[in-house]
Amino acid sequence: MAISIDPDTGLKIFDTRAAKASDKIQGQGYEVNPNASLKTLPEVSTDAKFDAVEQAKYREFKEQRRGAADYMAMEGEFAKYLEDHYSESPVQRDSLTDECEIVVVGAGFAGLLLWYRLKEAGFQDVRFCEKGGDVGGTWYWNRYPGIACDVESYSYFPLLEEMEYFPTMKFASGFEILEYCQSMATKFGFYDKCLFHTTVESTDWDEETRRWTVSTDRGDAMRARYVILANGILTTPKLARIDGMETFKGDSFHTSRWRYDVDLEGKTVGIIGTGATAVQAVPELAKVVGELYVFQRTPSSIDVRDDWETDPEWAAGLESGWQAQRRARAIEGPQVPDAVKAKRAAMSREEKIQRQENANIDAMMRIHKRIDEVVEDPQTAESLKPWYMLMCKRPCFHNEYLPSFNRANVTLVDTKGEGISQINATGPEFDGTQYELDVLIYATGFEVQQTGIYNQIIGEGGQDLNIKYSDGIRTLLGIHSHGYPNLFIMGGYQAFFAFNLTDVLNSQGEHIAECIDFVRQNQIHSLDCTYDAEERWVQEVIAHRGKTSRNRDCTPGYYNFEGAENRRQDGNYNGTMKQYLDHMSEIRDKMSEHFAFTHR
Ligand code: NAP
Repeated sequence: MAISIDPDTGLKIFDTRAAKASDKIQGQGYEVNPNASLKTLPEVSTDAKFDAVEQAKYREFKEQRRGAADYMAMEGEFAKYLEDHYSESPVQRDSLTDECEIVVVGAGFAGLLLWYRLKEAGFQDVRFCEKGGDVGGTWYWNRYPGIACDVESYSYFPLLEEMEYFPTMKFASGFEILEYCQSMATKFGFYDKCLFHTTVESTDWDEETRRWTVSTDRGDAMRARYVILANGILTTPKLARIDGMETFKGDSFHTSRWRYDVDLEGKTVGIIGTGATAVQAVPELAKVVGELYVFQRTPSSIDVRDDWETDPEWAAGLESGWQAQRRARAIEGPQVPDAVKAKRAAMSREEKIQRQENANIDAMMRIHKRIDEVVEDPQTAESLKPWYMLMCKRPCFHNEYLPSFNRANVTLVDTKGEGISQINATGPEFDGTQYELDVLIYATGFEVQQTGIYNQIIGEGGQDLNIKYSDGIRTLLGIHSHGYPNLFIMGGYQAFFAFNLTDVLNSQGEHIAECIDFVRQNQIHSLDCTYDAEERWVQEVIAHRGKTSRNRDCTPGYYNFEGAENRRQDGNYNGTMKQYLDHMSEIRDKMSEHFAFTHR
């Protein structure tokens, strides 16, 4: 029975987790490369400076790349690329039109961590809606060969001690992470709470009943007192808009819907895109396919991956509380001697920018040198060199990506910033050459998901959150937005964006559980952040935005909204994690200064 009643609590319990489509929905992780020389970034002999020659090279590179970003959603005939091949068909169930206390959108790490905190605080009447057939979010959808997380697993896997688990590698494969999410869900009783294969389409506030109505593609219209949006930031895959792509006769798919039913062995395969996904997939593909063509528009920066398998003795010797201590140390940040702090404080803004740029160039020169040392063909090596500031694009880390181009079966097709713009029945065409492929893989990334673009959120006074945001994003802590009572956002803009996202999600989960608990303890009905509190946070976000303009100085990419002009407030909070957490606890200490309450 997909829906039944728990005799102890009288609450509905669900059994909607989809069966695996087949045993072949999961590929290889990766193996630690024993070649130590691939794990060291070479030194550069000169103290690199961002001089006129360098600047000209960066400008030329940016000019070449200008105007080529053209993405499209997977709609109409391209909607096939969105299909879920990992699960059997959705479990049939009745639509839900009843009331519950809390509805959460999303069952990735954000939803799982939130559930842990809500359960800890004694909340039971909680429901999760998840688009996929199982938990995991990013790790449910992304199962390409070689998938791994670039964040150290000992910090990235949350609640390791509670789970009594230890990751097998420093940088865990995506498959291990997915299994960990499933174990969390089992251990914490999450599956009973989750409606899988259920996409939330709208979330509407009813002023009369002071409840949200959450409507889904399964015909649900559930009323809830609280709604939490835990549906991620890079969740909707996108395609490059390329003429003729619909005419391609071979198999094709996007990396986030890997088709393990398409046998790649010995085939001629092309992959479009060279971002973080392709960098991990290319080395594994190269080992299997007959021929591999990598279609590059802008090269990624490839730093070393200092990976190892977990030493079981080290893991066994860690004392209780080790993960919390590790997290606390990371939040505190490195200890900077007072003399260094004083020197930095005395620097002018220009000096700070210069210093930052020099450090960027220095890092890029080392990355260039590694390419020259590893890649045998000089022309391919030249093509693989990125000429932009390191943080303009997502830095990548890999030890086998560059050596892949030394294999006889791998060819880099450098489109020199233009990108592939024509695909025919047999494959892409570039610069007069037709690349005849059996299979074409799109590693073209994801739409940057602003809160509420797919799930229409209508708050007080009938205001659509998107319309509110069209004058600039406005939140308190990236979590609350004025006019949207009892609604909470996880992992959205204007929050701190740590490289280790689970740290942020964990803190946000704690904060949200405490806010809801505050409502319960104080016999109030709802809380809404005030306009003034929101405005103070918007100004705080603006005050911490970067020192240089990424739009002006960087090649386009999703880090800078593809180069589109955006407001200073439309981004992450760039203070430190510690500052973010301090703001959170200050706000919770003085709730009435930041929130308005209603009592019915
Ligand atoms: P992405 O970084 O957005 O990369 C998309 C790629 O497609 C880019 O290389 C882009 O080139 C290229 N492209 C677009 N149109 C093209 C065309 N017409 N011809 C040729 N190339 C074209 O997407 P992603 O690699 O899937 O990564 C997305 C994000 O997911 C990452 O940045 C990261 O945050 C996350 N991720 C993390 C990990 C990890 O932990 N290691 C792994 C995978 C993904 P341009 O650069 O020129 O735009």
